[in-house]
Amino acid sequence: MFERWLQALSRPSTWLLLPAVLLVCILLVVSIYCAPIALKLAGKAHAASPTNTTNTAPPLPPESFPDALQQGMERLTTKAAEALKPLTYTMAVANPNVPQGHTALVTITASKAPTSPVVLAYAGKAFPVYAVDPEHPHALYGLVPIAVDKALGGSTLTLQDKASRKALASVTLTITSGHYSKQNIGVSKAMKGLTAEPGEYEAIGGFRKTTVPHRHWALPTTLATLTGIIIKPVPDCMSSPFGNLRYHNGKFTGNFHKGVDQRSPNSRPIKAITGGVVKIARQYRFHGGTIGIDHGQGVHSIYIHQSKIVVKLGDTVTAGQVIGHVGTTGFSTGPHLHWGLFVHGEPVNPVQWIALPGCG
Ligand SMILES: [Zn+2]
Repeated sequence: MFERWLQALSRPSTWLLLPAVLLVCILLVVSIYCAPIALKLAGKAHAASPTNTTNTAPPLPPESFPDALQQGMERLTTKAAEALKPLTYTMAVANPNVPQGHTALVTITASKAPTSPVVLAYAGKAFPVYAVDPEHPHALYGLVPIAVDKALGGSTLTLQDKASRKALASVTLTITSGHYSKQNIGVSKAMKGLTAEPGEYEAIGGFRKTTVPHRHWALPTTLATLTGIIIKPVPDCMSSPFGNLRYHNGKFTGNFHKGVDQRSPNSRPIKAITGGVVKIARQYRFHGGTIGIDHGQGVHSIYIHQSKIVVKLGDTVTAGQVIGHVGTTGFSTGPHLHWGLFVHGEPVNPVQWIALPGCG
């Protein structure tokens, strides 16, 4: 055996093969040791590559797939159930015993977002309702003005679909006496001859018939009362209340007092009762210096007999902004501010909205 090895070594061909065998062995050893390191480096480079935009999110563990599917199904089921649920309304009145000349404050809650507009029907008229907060269309509110001469006792207020007029909910309002009395005013010969200029009454009566959906005034936070949401235009006492039947020299005029009078000195600044847009700003022969403001969502105010007007038609005013000055222009017996409040065009008693102590 040993001799055969010696013979092989003595052959020149064996010595020629030896370097090749050694080279193969070295390559084999190097590849065995270096391959895992090379693979590791290659893996890191792959993960850090900015061009690698696919599969960047960590893979979900297999057990998460059924959870996500279940959550999706639950969401779909909730939406389907909401869509199938009937749309119902509940209605409440903050002041169901309403005096004549006051305003009923109505709140409406829908079981889900309303799909078509609704209105409040009362005494043959339809009044709009608005979202309390546009972000939450389920909660609505409406103002219903009660006429000064509305019959006393119970009457029905109905929530209706605006298009079909189908009744959706209803409540009973009990109308109580506004305790309005007669008031006689002594009118001089000169005053008697004072008449309105052409178009004057139309302008005074017309500006309050336009309703814009933007509200410039703040709703009371609890929607329980309208008191305190406007300010007094002048600080003075009330010399003549709202609603009195007006007599001139003992003769009934056929009219009632559509606002209040505050006994105010000449030139006293007059403030806007709340924010709004000026719709009338001019001197009239009968009403004198007149400003009419649209406060939005059916609320308007008017200020007459002013000596000076400091706002222009179309101006946007804020609550408390000076709009003019007290005077005795037009049909007036002395310096005072007559101002009026309107809800959906109907004159309403401002005393419900702001306390006005009488002059006594
Ligand atoms: Zn007056």
